[in-house]
Formats: sequence, structure tokens, C-alpha cells
Amino acid sequence: MPIVKDLTAYKNVWVFAEQRQGKIMPVAIELLGEGRKLADEIGTELCAIVLGNKVEDLTKELVAYGADKVYAADHELLEKFTTDAYTKVISDAIGEIKPEIILMGATHIGRDLAPRVAARVDTGLTADCTILEIDAEDKKILQTRPAFGGNVMATIVCPDHRPQMSTVRPGVMDKAQRDDARTGEIIKLDVKLEKKDVRTEVLEIVKTVGELVSLTDANVIVSGGRGLGKAEGFDLIKQLADKLGGVVGSSRACVDAGWIDHSHQVGQTGTTVKPNLYIACGISGAIQHLAGMQESDIIVAINKNANAPIFDVADYGIAGDLYDVVPMLIDALDNV
Ligand code: FAD
Repeated sequence: MPIVKDLTAYKNVWVFAEQRQGKIMPVAIELLGEGRKLADEIGTELCAIVLGNKVEDLTKELVAYGADKVYAADHELLEKFTTDAYTKVISDAIGEIKPEIILMGATHIGRDLAPRVAARVDTGLTADCTILEIDAEDKKILQTRPAFGGNVMATIVCPDHRPQMSTVRPGVMDKAQRDDARTGEIIKLDVKLEKKDVRTEVLEIVKTVGELVSLTDANVIVSGGRGLGKAEGFDLIKQLADKLGGVVGSSRACVDAGWIDHSHQVGQTGTTVKPNLYIACGISGAIQHLAGMQESDIIVAINKNANAPIFDVADYGIAGDLYDVVPMLIDALDNV
């Protein structure tokens, strides 16, 4: 029999403040920025929930980024993320405190955690949202995400279950501004967690080189596409990126070809970025690539096909062979 919930008992907007090794992830700060707008529109409080071992310093940071209340779950079994432990603690907190909306980052952790939590608390989840709005009439959250390979945008509501849950792509929302003078309430959760609740143990976290790429934080991204023709083409892309103090991005075609790690992929199934400058080299401009970069401030496209769709979104276009154009740009920057 379905569980009948009293929807009016659910209040406040929650942001899951994902942290790794004691550092709040940028997406959590973006969600606090977005969560503030939603909370103000519904006339409710913005809360953060943070899990870990010794998270006290993080709670203050979350208040500085706009949380009115921070729920802190401190426990040695929460030191490293495990699906079991995090699902249990968040689901217990939802059952007890009843938030109306929960936002999580669509990171590897958020994508793993959010569906588990949603199933456990018997609610719906809209994954991978890029737009969140409040319906002026009934105050429900309108969750918009790309669907059918990015060809349509689907807007989804959660009509009669609570909380309303969304995962949101990193890099899409504006970050909250930090203000260390802000004050907020810190509430310690009573964590009921035992070793038997956690079926997996993290023995070691091995950092791959790919993890060092931070596309979401980069001001300048120089991306290479299939037009490079070979993996070694990325050496040239890296030279230009280094000259501009930027990082290397890629289209999926190059990742699929094994030329570069997936952590560099920009687009619908990669990372969404909005740097000050995005330079696309030998990228055609497929809709799934555009979905991840078209919000960039300035887009420069280099492509030997003057009719390539990438030129439709570019602020500056150079029709030419990237192996001629990119070395010229590097030379020009050397002489600046
Ligand atoms: P191509 O489309 O092959 O374009 C290569 C371009 O290089 C051409 O325009 C050509 O004119 C130009 N060129 C060739 N040689 C040169 C040269 N010497 N100098 C200059 N220009 C040259 N793609 C992504 O990028 N990111 C995603 O996240 C993503 N997710 C997807 C999800 C789904 C569900 C699907 C179905 C597809 C997804 N794709 C994604 C793939 C996407 O549809 C395209 O296939 C891909 O973006 C094409 O990559 P490309 O532009 O590098 O290659």
C-alpha cells in the first residue's frame, strides 16, 4: 500500500554539502546560491546537510555561503563516502526533519546517493537538472533537464511526494557569495550508525591524473576534437592552454577514441563548463557538446569547415586548419 504523506509537514530547502577530504565541493556552493533563490521565493529557510568526520569547520563555511541552518552528521564511519552510510544518515534525517526540497550535485557521489535516498524515503528524483524554478501558483519546484540526447528540455514536477529531489549539474548555477559575518544555526544530528550498516569499506583512494583537471573552475579552456586526427594533437592543445593559463578540454569523440581521459570531456555526458574563454579546435559543434559549453562568456572556434555548426555559437570564428592556426596563436601570445 502506498505511504500517504502529509505534504504540509515538509519545510525548507536543503542542499547536500558534498565534501571530499574535508573540502566543500564547488557544486555545493553553487547549490547554496541556487537554493537561496528558491528558498526566498517560497518564503522558507535554506539549510545545508554535511556528513563526515570532524566537520565543524565546514559548518561555519556553509553558514558563510548562506545556509540559515546546517545539519551536521559527524561520525567516524562517515569519514569516507560509502553509499550505505550516507543513504542511511540522510534518509533518517529526512524522516525526522522533513525538508521540502533537496538539492544534490550531479557528481559521481550525488548520482550514486540521490536515487538511493529517494527510493528509501519514497519520493521522486529528477536527475541532472540544468534549470530550477518555482511555480508561482502552487510553489512546487519545476525541474528542467535535457532529454533525448539533449534534443529537448523536459520540465518535471514531483506532484504528491516529498521531499522534491533534484541532482544538478556542476558548473551550471552561480556560486553563492561568501560572507564570514553571516550567522546561522548549527544542529548536530544524532547519527545512528553501526559497522554492520556499512557493507563496503574504502581501503584507499587512488588519485588518477585525470582528477587533477578542474574544468568547472577553469577561466580558460582549450578543447580539442576529432579534427586533431590523433592523440598527439593534444600536445598542441596543451601548449595553447598553458600559454593562456587554462586547462585542456575535449569532445567525446576524442575520449571514445582513447586519445584523452574522460575527465577532460565537455558536454552532456561530460562536464558542463562556463569559462571566460572557450576555444574549440576541430570540434564540429554537436548539440551534446554545445550543451556543456555554450554558456561560456567568449567562444572561439577553429574549424576547417566554414559551415560547421560550432560557428553558430562562436563569438569569434577562424575557418582554417587547426595545425596552421593554433601554432600562429601560440607564436602571437609569445610576442605579447
Ligand atoms: P566531429 O563531429 O567528427 O567533428 C570534427 C570537426 O573537426 C569537423 O567539424 C571538421 O570539419 C573539423 N576538422 C577536421 N580536421 C580539422 C583540422 N585539421 N583543423 C580544423 N578543423 C578540422 N559529445 C561531446 O563532445 N560531449 C558529450 O558530452 C557528448 N555526449 C553525448 C551523449 C549522447 C547521448 C550522444 C548520442 C552523443 C554525445 N556526444 C557528446 C557525441 C556528439 O554527438 C558528437 O559525436 C561529438 O561531439 C563529435 O565530436 P567532434 O566535434 O570532436 O567530432
